[in-house]
Amino acid sequence: MTIQANQEKVTVEAFINGQHIKSLSQLAKENPANPSEIVGYFPVTTKEQAATAIEAAAGAFKTWKQSSVEERIIRMRKAIEKIRAAENDIVHLLSREHGKPLYDAHGEIFVSLMWMEFACNEATSVLAEEIHEHDHGKTIVSYDPIGVVAAISPWNYPIALSTIKIAPALLAGNTIVLKPSPYAPLAAAKVAEIIASEFPAGVINVVYGDADVGVELTSHPLVTKIAFTGGTATAKHIIKAASETIKDMTLELGGNDAAIFLESFDVHDERAMRRIVISNFLTTGQICMIAKRVYVHRSIYDAFVEKYIEAANRWIRIGDPFDSNTTIGPVNNLKQRDYVQGLVEDAQKRGAKVIPLGQILDQKLFEQGYYLQPTLVLDCDVHDPIVVEEQFGPTVPILPFDDEDQVVRLHNESIYGLTSSVWGKEEDAISLARQLEAGTTMINTAAVQGLDVRFPFGGFKQSGIGREYGAEGIRTYTEKHVINVPNMLDLPYIPE
Ligand code: NAD
Repeated sequence: MTIQANQEKVTVEAFINGQHIKSLSQLAKENPANPSEIVGYFPVTTKEQAATAIEAAAGAFKTWKQSSVEERIIRMRKAIEKIRAAENDIVHLLSREHGKPLYDAHGEIFVSLMWMEFACNEATSVLAEEIHEHDHGKTIVSYDPIGVVAAISPWNYPIALSTIKIAPALLAGNTIVLKPSPYAPLAAAKVAEIIASEFPAGVINVVYGDADVGVELTSHPLVTKIAFTGGTATAKHIIKAASETIKDMTLELGGNDAAIFLESFDVHDERAMRRIVISNFLTTGQICMIAKRVYVHRSIYDAFVEKYIEAANRWIRIGDPFDSNTTIGPVNNLKQRDYVQGLVEDAQKRGAKVIPLGQILDQKLFEQGYYLQPTLVLDCDVHDPIVVEEQFGPTVPILPFDDEDQVVRLHNESIYGLTSSVWGKEEDAISLARQLEAGTTMINTAAVQGLDVRFPFGGFKQSGIGREYGAEGIRTYTEKHVINVPNMLDLPYIPE
């Protein structure tokens, strides 16, 4: 069944100090499933406007930091209710501008709200001042807000990866300037404005643009914390831009997450086969934590590939994001589609076998949108670009391995270390998992299916710095302030 999409065009404007700012020029956001359809318009924010937003956030911080955690929680809970009430409209907008199917867009709101609620439930205890009475006197440890947070989010989960920053930053008493990605700015902006409607002017500001505005946000002296999710290459620019003023930062970056299937994995387990296919292709493979390379023990390799293709052909239905039969929509943008296609063609030239997966529900739509046929890549070398690069799209290589030392080495030699998964008998899988360099390792599931917002999420090595989610995802927006009251005021070894 295809739901009728609301064709209304949505225009968003920069939101600074509680006011919409009329822009001189705007950009159009097209629908990736039907690029001739304009979903809405977003402004070209100037560097000067971005600076004004930062100054507004710095001004608001002076009073906002004195608000009680209770007040912040009450405001955030009201915002959550408003988002819930507007969920259908937000989901439709997100699906039209991003290309993800409706169920997947609902999933994004589900995860966003789950995290926001968790953050509200935990904020009081996580941010509570600690008073330690001890032999040496008394020590008070408080969790103070850092100041103005520049929050920069990517296009793949624009709402979840904006709210993952907004909620804890505000609950901890900071103010924020959000910059969503130009590839999916509209729904994130709507959600940010809903939240802003419950907070004093200047506490949340929203600006638009790409690297130019990004540089302003990450180098401005009044910004004291950067919360960035995006590519590793971009993060390198951000680190340089921030170095002049030494900013606190949380960086959630790229991944090349491996799924490892042990000899004890049952290839006849159809539910598990469905789970790995979803772990490779949900959101058209455009998730940081999607399983992007699959290693299978040689003893089960042939049977695995056969069962994988059956499961993939059952689950993957490429079509209109508004059709309830669709499991996979288009790639979000042409640049990304060409990049993924290039990786697959390169693998083919190197001798790999490329197997198309799934059924195309609507050939005409497929040809008009930024669609790409999902593929399985076999017979490639462990060092081919399709294996070692982050593809971030609907293709996955499956490779055999002979022993655990080899697969651990292949896993760990990556520059990335975001998530991974191990599939097979639980104790064998946990034992292998302990040897992997990754922020999260999931057992017998992968990607968002194994995500738990109550625990910290982030990457080893070039997959990032710091953690989001869990108590740490709230504390990361604070500075520890220690007030020491020693009972021995004069040290005995310092001469009179
Ligand atoms: P990107 O790095 O191209 O862009 C991310 C954001 O940074 C955008 O808002 C962009 O406008 C902005 N930006 C670009 N240049 C900038 C600069 N010089 N200074 C400041 N900001 C700048 O990433 P993308 O293509 O939007 O997203 C895909 C990448 O994000 C993938 O690598 C993916 O793995 C990663 N990602 C990571 C996580 C995670 O939690 N680790 C989650 C989602 C996506």
